[in-house]
Amino acid sequence: MKAPAFDYIKPHSLDQVFGLLAEYGDEARLLAGGQTLMATLNMRLSEPAIVVDITGIEALRGISLTADGTALRIGALATHSEIEASALVAQHAPLLTMAAPHIAHRAIRNLGTWGGSIAYADPAAEWPVCVLALDATVVVRGAGGGRRIAAADFFLDLYTTALQDGELVTACELPVRSAQHRFGFDELARRHGDYAIVGLAVATRFAGQQLHDTRLSFLGLGTTPLRARQTEQFLDGRTLDAAVLQEAAKVLAAELTGALEPLGDLTNSAATKRHLATVLMQRVLAGLNP
Ligand SMILES: Cc1cc2nc3c(=O)[nH]c(=O)nc-3n(C[C@H](O)[C@H](O)[C@H](O)COP(=O)(O)OP(=O)(O)OC[C@H]3O[C@@H](n4cnc5c(N)ncnc54)[C@H](O)[C@@H]3O)c2cc1C
Repeated sequence: MKAPAFDYIKPHSLDQVFGLLAEYGDEARLLAGGQTLMATLNMRLSEPAIVVDITGIEALRGISLTADGTALRIGALATHSEIEASALVAQHAPLLTMAAPHIAHRAIRNLGTWGGSIAYADPAAEWPVCVLALDATVVVRGAGGGRRIAAADFFLDLYTTALQDGELVTACELPVRSAQHRFGFDELARRHGDYAIVGLAVATRFAGQQLHDTRLSFLGLGTTPLRARQTEQFLDGRTLDAAVLQEAAKVLAAELTGALEPLGDLTNSAATKRHLATVLMQRVLAGLNP
């Protein structure tokens, strides 16, 4: 199918964008990498009057350390490939370097953006689970000014975020890792490049051999990226050995039965996803030991 007719504009300042969003409201759509939006237009799932191309706005670009050196700022327009290849990211937020190759295929990673993925909030996408695991801050801005939203408060429901009308994601800030931090990422997909059935981003801090502040952030299980907090609590202060991994799998299976019951899909039942999540968690945790 072809996209419906729409007007197209490429502003060069955020103020222009805010003016257009105020003028057109629901009839406007932001265009970043276009790797999701163009498909929805072509399938006529979305029929905006105007497409506002934000790729000309320099303020949304770049990957840099914040002035005080405590956080890594990744601008909304950084592409998946830029993040994958960034030495700064590899040094300060290596979880992203691990996760990037799992996003679609190279052609899509060359165009798709960090901000587009976070704002779209697909529960099967890689960046949202990473920002949750890293306890990142999503930086948003609208005509009235900026807001900083903890990743834990940003993803509200299926494709639904804390962004308000007229706001866009300008960047995300990730706390820089310390020498004690370890990260892991893996996912189970039918073919490489497909959206995964289940994926897991882990961030933890080792004190000697013991785990602390572990965050287990799953994709593909619910309507948003999902933290397994009871299992995180179980792991606190433990040393990773075969017995702890097996016990952790039991705790996770129990946690994913009930309130956090996974959402089944056309090919995978809730029980299958629960099982895959426990297998994946043991695999990722086993690879973390310092
Ligand atoms: C075949 C295929 C496979 C894919 N597989 C994966 C995958 O495995 N994992 C994965 O994570 N993704 C996957 N994607 C999606 C891809 O990562 C997209 O790039 C990403 O979801 C959206 O980023 P974008 O820059 O292309 O956004 P766009 O398509 O330009 O925009 C997407 C939506 O976000 C809004 N938006 C964009 N930027 C902002 C912003 N800064 N602030 C507020 N709103 C904004 C737009 O208005 C639009 O509603 C796949 C896409 C395709 C086509």
